[in-house]
Amino acid sequence: VKLRCELALLPEGLQRDVCLEVEAGRIAAVGPARGDEQRLAGFVLPGLANLHSHAFQRAMAGSAEVAATAEHSFWGWREVMYRFASRLGADELAAIAAFAGLEMLEAGYTEVAEFHYLHNPPGGQAYADPATLGVAVREGARAAGIRQLLLPTLYQQGNFDGTPLAGTQLRYGLELEAFLQLYESLRASECALCSTGLAVHSLRAVPLAVLESVAAVAATPLKPAPLHLHIAEQRREVEDCLAFRGQRPVDWLLGTGLVAPHWCLVHATHVDAGELRGLAASGAVVGLCPSTEANLGDGRFALDEFLAAGGRFGIGSDSHVTIDPREELRALEYTLRLWRERRVLAVDAATPHCGEFLYRHALAGGAQACGGGPRGLVVGAPADFVVLDTQHPGFAGLADAALLDAWIFAPRPGALREAWVAGERLVADGRHRNREAIATRYRDCVTRLAVHPAD
Ligand SMILES: [Zn+2]
Repeated sequence: VKLRCELALLPEGLQRDVCLEVEAGRIAAVGPARGDEQRLAGFVLPGLANLHSHAFQRAMAGSAEVAATAEHSFWGWREVMYRFASRLGADELAAIAAFAGLEMLEAGYTEVAEFHYLHNPPGGQAYADPATLGVAVREGARAAGIRQLLLPTLYQQGNFDGTPLAGTQLRYGLELEAFLQLYESLRASECALCSTGLAVHSLRAVPLAVLESVAAVAATPLKPAPLHLHIAEQRREVEDCLAFRGQRPVDWLLGTGLVAPHWCLVHATHVDAGELRGLAASGAVVGLCPSTEANLGDGRFALDEFLAAGGRFGIGSDSHVTIDPREELRALEYTLRLWRERRVLAVDAATPHCGEFLYRHALAGGAQACGGGPRGLVVGAPADFVVLDTQHPGFAGLADAALLDAWIFAPRPGALREAWVAGERLVADGRHRNREAIATRYRDCVTRLAVHPAD
């Protein structure tokens, strides 16, 4: 099929009247439109990757904004989250992941990296098929039609000192061998829209030897598998790492010599200037989730210094208090503005428009972190894109170059009209084509969960 874009965000710049030729779900050619193509009325943007998601947390978004725990901190929130997670089985995970995927598509994400650490049934024994819950989360993404990198996650201990997992955490624990079998089994059941990578939950969750083993599996010579982990999200984690390993988390990790461009370090909120430079030099992607990091009181990331050092980043909606790439990008820039008391900080000489700069960088970093090859409106990339309505009143009077700025910084509802994945239109007029069924299943499931007696 040949599609005519009124305006398109190409790697070389904004261009009017572009023809995208799509074959077998991929972009086969990009060139000037002739006029006989199927029309995409609006501004066509390559879809962004949401590089950090725990789909199940969508169903508790909004429920933890009350002073109900003893400690009003990340650690108190984590207890609430653990209790919630302990009620979920395969059906619930699939229903929630489908709805989260739908919301991602309606918001402008076309791909998601799912950081998946719920492996065992409540209580911690094993399912007959250890991939039961991984497959459920994958099925959820498939129901929504979003592209998914599934990251089975290894979580073996409660802290750096080797404290065993206990209570609600037992559902996360796997031995290394079982974990690698799970990875192989998920790899064997991949589909056109679903792939598999690896994750370790955090530095505190695995000993060094295990981290090295997982890194060795990921570092396949020709096509390394994406390897993600949470790092330096909270000060306590930094203090614990200093106490048990004698170094700050990012310093310690960089010191292992393992980190490479196929790694994604999620959060990295608490880094000093040296760590920031080391991270940038490693070529790894930093996964920033500013809406969640703000919600959980994690801390702020010095994106300006990181970019100056050549660092790469992508964005994720993580706990899904919001699912909207614009909010993540805006929060990154606004945090800097409040911090530096200046404006328009995430830019460079080549891309002076802040919205476009953030979008392009998040696109490239997200693609790298998801490891699926080229992304964007380029030959060989999947035909994954979104269409903004240029007739929307929120865009009136603006030059083409300012449209992305307006979409991100001055959001008005209804500007995103369409989302396409693998050449198929999943969102039209701002609405997912299966919204009714997916939302109904989600509502039923979450309503059931809410009346479930607390453990
Ligand atoms: Zn996370």
